[in-house]
Amino acid sequence: MNYLNKDEILTQLEKISGRDFVSNKTGDLFIYSQDPGASESRPVDFVVLPKTVEEIQKIVKLANSEKIPLIPMGGGLTLSGLIIPVRGGIVLDLKRMNQILEINELNRYALLEPGVTTGMLKAYLSENYPELQPPIPDAPPSATIAGNMLIHGSGSLSQKYGCHSSMINGLEVVLPTGEIGKFGSCAVSEYWFSKGPIPDLIGLFTSAFGTMGIITKISIKLFPRPKFRDMIFGFTKGFSDLPKLMSKITFTELAEDIMIAKGDVPEAYKNFGMLMVYFAGNSKDEMEFKRKTIEKIFKDHKAQVVPLVGKARERLMAEPQYGAALAADWRKGGGFEYVGSFIPLEKIPEAIEKGTTISRKYGLLTSLLFRLIGRGHAVMFSVTFPFNRSDSKDMINTRKGLEDADKMILEIGGIPWKAELTGQKLILEKMDPNFKKLFNNIRNIFDPNGIMNPGNWEVQ
Ligand SMILES: Cc1cc2nc3c(=O)[nH]c(=O)nc-3n(C[C@H](O)[C@H](O)[C@H](O)COP(=O)(O)OP(=O)(O)OC[C@H]3O[C@@H](n4cnc5c(N)ncnc54)[C@H](O)[C@@H]3O)c2cc1C
Repeated sequence: MNYLNKDEILTQLEKISGRDFVSNKTGDLFIYSQDPGASESRPVDFVVLPKTVEEIQKIVKLANSEKIPLIPMGGGLTLSGLIIPVRGGIVLDLKRMNQILEINELNRYALLEPGVTTGMLKAYLSENYPELQPPIPDAPPSATIAGNMLIHGSGSLSQKYGCHSSMINGLEVVLPTGEIGKFGSCAVSEYWFSKGPIPDLIGLFTSAFGTMGIITKISIKLFPRPKFRDMIFGFTKGFSDLPKLMSKITFTELAEDIMIAKGDVPEAYKNFGMLMVYFAGNSKDEMEFKRKTIEKIFKDHKAQVVPLVGKARERLMAEPQYGAALAADWRKGGGFEYVGSFIPLEKIPEAIEKGTTISRKYGLLTSLLFRLIGRGHAVMFSVTFPFNRSDSKDMINTRKGLEDADKMILEIGGIPWKAELTGQKLILEKMDPNFKKLFNNIRNIFDPNGIMNPGNWEVQ
């Protein structure tokens, strides 16, 4: 790095955010040099926990004058190393900027600071606006809304309304030059209610992994919470009919969330695909109609419906689901990473076959999940590897499995999601050269000194 003087930089950062919220001590930086996934740890020089937009602007200006990398961080739960600096620098931990600034009940949006977590927003709405629900992932409740939306994200409302990035109405961003940018209706109006009707530049910040600026305010859509929610659980032995079965269900527009799981755990379902279809409504009659219609489609496609009771039902009905946390811990070794991706619906059978082969090849548990996005216009597909953190062989096999999964997904026409560095490199290799050139030009205009999370999306 290009520091003039590390002590001087520390002093400057302390002047900006206060001594209690800046550190360069090894003990404090340890946790920021890694994440819960399988990435190797990488060094961090400073961590700062700013409280205001003005502080962030000053930090960005300092980072520009000293050419220090800046890495914005929400909950740090993405798993694919996106908040671990590639070239050292300052981790901007945004936890302290955690105010829910506005809930606009009638226009159904929430205006949030970047440190607001999914748990905080969910709890606040349940208490104050029980008829509204936020889009949240199955991630632990300490994940931030902004972090999730910015990596595209998916959750229980995604089948119906699309991936989470499509639910962003507007952003306030400290740009890599330190200026403030406003995107969406907030650029014109005092209401943060819509992306348009002006050119949509919000997309520049999604899946950008912190390379285009620091989001300091985000407006997201909220959705009506129906009175009742239920699920149909079932399984299939063969997988070739799954795309048609899924497509038929989406055609009814009756389901809220549709998922397929295929894995070695639980043992009893090892050879089957488990189907989970969630539906919601405002009356018992509506629920009954939805249940009967969807169950009929199950039967027409030779899928078995299984009544679900007790703890299994409780876990599958929870929001966020326990399922994700359980799958994360199957190896009982404290490690968990998955290659997520977006794939076309028709590729589900091939993805099951190839995902299973990769897991077997490296002696890892098979754990595959599909979640339909936007009424079947895409499918979120993940190949999950729980691993034992204290077993170095397990870690190496996991990294190999993740790389193979990235390659397989690109081969079948999908795109790795929130990809780690290897996945990003593979995507860039396959990317249209003109797209790459344009992307590079835009990045250079936004961030002439290359300070924003460098190493990610390196377009050369
Ligand atoms: C058990 C488990 C289950 C999960 N299930 C799901 C799921 O169902 N759906 C899903 O979508 N994800 C899931 N995830 C993945 C991930 O945890 C979530 O997507 C999470 O919401 C990411 O938010 P975060 O605050 O942890 O983001 P971070 O990891 O902190 O950040 C994500 C990226 O955004 C950037 N970033 C963060 N904040 C800002 C900002 N203010 N300005 C600019 N850039 C920023 C970071 O630099 C990074 O590149 C799961 C993870 C776990 C561990």
